[in-house]
Amino acid sequence: MTASTNPLQPGQLWIGGRWEEGRPSNRYDVVNPATGEKLTDVVHGSAQDVDRAVAAARAALESGPWPKMDASERGRILRRAGDLIQSRKDELARLESANNGKTVKEAGRGDLPPSWDVFHYYSGWANKLHGEVIPVDGHYLNFAVREPVGVVGAIVAWNYPLLLASWKLAPALATGNTVVLKPSEQTPLTALALAGILAEAGLPPGVVNVVTGFGDTGGHIAAHPGVDKVAFTGSVDTARKLLHASADSNLKRLSLELGGKSPNIVFPDCDINAAVRAALWGVFANKGEVCSAGSRLFLHKAIHSEFLERLSDATRALRVGDPLDPASDVGSLISQRQLERVLGYIESGKSEQARLVCGGGRLSGPTFDRGYFVEPTIFDGVRSEMTIAREEIFGPVLSVLTFEDEDELIRMANGTVYGLVSAIWTADVTRALRLARRIRAGSVWINDYNCFDSASPFGGVKQSGFGREMGVHALEQYTAVKSVWINLGPR
Ligand code: NAD
Repeated sequence: MTASTNPLQPGQLWIGGRWEEGRPSNRYDVVNPATGEKLTDVVHGSAQDVDRAVAAARAALESGPWPKMDASERGRILRRAGDLIQSRKDELARLESANNGKTVKEAGRGDLPPSWDVFHYYSGWANKLHGEVIPVDGHYLNFAVREPVGVVGAIVAWNYPLLLASWKLAPALATGNTVVLKPSEQTPLTALALAGILAEAGLPPGVVNVVTGFGDTGGHIAAHPGVDKVAFTGSVDTARKLLHASADSNLKRLSLELGGKSPNIVFPDCDINAAVRAALWGVFANKGEVCSAGSRLFLHKAIHSEFLERLSDATRALRVGDPLDPASDVGSLISQRQLERVLGYIESGKSEQARLVCGGGRLSGPTFDRGYFVEPTIFDGVRSEMTIAREEIFGPVLSVLTFEDEDELIRMANGTVYGLVSAIWTADVTRALRLARRIRAGSVWINDYNCFDSASPFGGVKQSGFGREMGVHALEQYTAVKSVWINLGPR
């Protein structure tokens, strides 16, 4: 029986194409953060579990059907995996909502379609990784081919569990790698469902292994000499540990998708209706637990008051509520810890004398008391040096800053340790492109927010990380170039 047929059965580890108990058996509860109810329990993977998963991935990489398989057949398996995710979209959206606290509406629109799409996208790439013939000096034929990097450890966060796993697995598999996936301890259920889906799609045993567990489980993957690369989504603190673990073990490659404190910049000549809507969803989607959240809104002085009034009206109209109710706009934060963190930042905004425009507290009442629901919150009058302008809050809290001059704007926009995404709203194309060049970020969105496509690279600069998800650029992360020389004899 696969986990995908009943994701709420007690979770097991998926190793070498079989469901296994952990060794030693060590389990923990997975809860619905909106209600506190236990959903199921899963294995807290040990060092021995990681060893077995890495050994299975290594065996699948070096022998068995995977390395011998035609690239076009690898592509067909990925295509089927995408089709299966799509055919189970409602079940998976409900599961993601129940495990994460995001609304089922958001899971259905924001998590599921890009998850199946990225499998479809990379299914087409599997047999299109051409090598190159290089015109070297001398009497040689020299060509370069792209080979898999080997065993990939994929370690991901809890905010888009299925999507973050899919962004890593699809390009890793298209390029012929094998994988040990460790989902977040808080949201392992769709990763276990995905293991079943991939098996059903025809993926050979051992090509993908799923080991659930906490940070120590991830640490065993990061330190394992049999893992060639770690693809990571999570916090800067964990990323630092992964860099150390790589240095202390086998110099494994890393790609890091980390946090953000992204500027959303509005000039008076833009389409204000569209900008208000985008600013609203740019920060309050997924209860603000989004790495690309537009958590710093830069308003030009000339439109500051009008814009803020319209945005705060729209914010007050958001329906915070039961994530499984299709009418809810904003769900529950992931955990008590995250609740305390977000409320702590709200207190810091107040004490640093930012002006609270709306929200500012935890919601209470029968729908809310067992979960972690925070009012969508806006602070105005925020200055660059304030904590809420510098640190990633990862919750429904917007910091509004005002600007007049472009140089001052760029200084402020670039004035954090992060550089993930950015947005510029203006009808002046010259200004948009001038600023797009000066902003240090992995993405610049002009007159829109949250533009994502499986074909377009996503990732950060500075402490938002390095490496790219999606598009042709991610293929580079999962391949190594081999140069082959043939001596053609005397000329
Ligand atoms: P986290 O770093 O605490 O955990 C991420 C993953 O790493 C989890 O699976 C966790 O178990 C594992 N982990 C923790 N300690 C580890 C260790 N020592 N060794 C190996 N693995 C370890 O992050 P989080 O709280 O789950 O996620 C929130 C962060 O993720 C935010 O900063 C957010 O911005 C970032 N994020 C980034 C993106 C992106 O694409 N750039 C997307 C989503 C989230």
